[in-house]
Amino acid sequence: MIIGIPKEIKNNESRVGMTPAGVFSLTKNNHTVYVQSNAGAGSGFFDKDYVRVGATILPTIEDIYSKSDMIVKVKEPIALEYPLIKENQIVFTYFHFASSEPLTKAMLKSKATCIAYETVEDEDGSLPLLTPMSEVAGRMSIQQGAKYLEKPIKGRGILLGGVPGVKPGKVLVLGAGVVGVQAAKMAAGLGAHVTIMDINMKRLRYVNDVLPNHVVTAFSSEYSIREHIKTHDLIVGGVLVKGGKAPKLITKDMLKEMRPGTVIVDVAVDQGGCFETTKATTHEDPTYIIDDVVHYCVANMPGAVPYTSTMALTNVTLTYILKIANLGWEKACEADKTLAKGLNIVNGKIVYKELEGIFD
Ligand code: NAD
Repeated sequence: MIIGIPKEIKNNESRVGMTPAGVFSLTKNNHTVYVQSNAGAGSGFFDKDYVRVGATILPTIEDIYSKSDMIVKVKEPIALEYPLIKENQIVFTYFHFASSEPLTKAMLKSKATCIAYETVEDEDGSLPLLTPMSEVAGRMSIQQGAKYLEKPIKGRGILLGGVPGVKPGKVLVLGAGVVGVQAAKMAAGLGAHVTIMDINMKRLRYVNDVLPNHVVTAFSSEYSIREHIKTHDLIVGGVLVKGGKAPKLITKDMLKEMRPGTVIVDVAVDQGGCFETTKATTHEDPTYIIDDVVHYCVANMPGAVPYTSTMALTNVTLTYILKIANLGWEKACEADKTLAKGLNIVNGKIVYKELEGIFD
């Protein structure tokens, strides 16, 4: 099969769909890989690194789309790319169709085979191609939160780990899923006092088993959240209700209960946010302040660490890319039910149940 790796052209996106390690596996399996010039540079992978493992570098995005059977990328195609996508071409990337009617209509019109990373689903309901980005965002939430707690950025002026003779800062994590556990782990590693909340007791038991003793679990309720926010310096929102909008766990009136300079990081911003006062921000202008509370609500946190994020993503996508390249998408999906869940649009038709009729 001929596999094409275009350069991402969405604003501020430096990740790339495949690392040289991935190209190595594909060329070893006798596939042809075309990489657009400079596609990996933002993630620290240069044209010469790809050439060394057998890729051919092509100068333009048009070359990549016109010559490839399968396109592997990171972000959903943007309008400029719509006309480049061909009938029967496989496009394997994050799509998030439900949030974009123009993208859905363009892909239906193209008659391409669209396999979406975000709906590839294991039998236990987990989403293996979303997990690594939650891991990155969860860990980053503490790194960012710690920075914004500094006084010059209007934070409380607290060092999370404290120092000998001075008590550490307090971190409250809402949600004990992938984001929450990674956030709690990082905060605990810095020496902060951590409380993590969930409504799922299984998750709290898991946290209690695997994280150190200075990570305390608490059952999530409006009452307990109201109590905890009064004394915590950094609050991380990592809740998810599958298929729904994030519940607003921190309402506007609660901000007044927090101490001035408290930092709140809403990782769940991409699902509407779990704080009432959340509005999506960007890496260029990541924070804003309401009632003396610093809000950090960047919707694509992993984009700030493209090297780590590209590696983490391609670690999990490569197995599926190889399967599709070796067997073709139909046989690969027959053989692998997890991958089959990723099929969203085939030959001008929606084949993912949750999307059916959504833009009729
Ligand atoms: P997850 O499903 O692993 O965990 C979510 C947890 O929230 C679950 O354990 C669930 O029980 C818990 N929860 C639900 N309702 C709750 C409540 N009322 N109180 C406390 N806990 C509650 O999800 P995840 O992978 O950790 O993702 C969390 C969110 O982060 C998602 O919205 C995801 O899209 C988002 N995310 C954002 C970025 C970004 O860059 N901003 C990156 C990755 C993921």
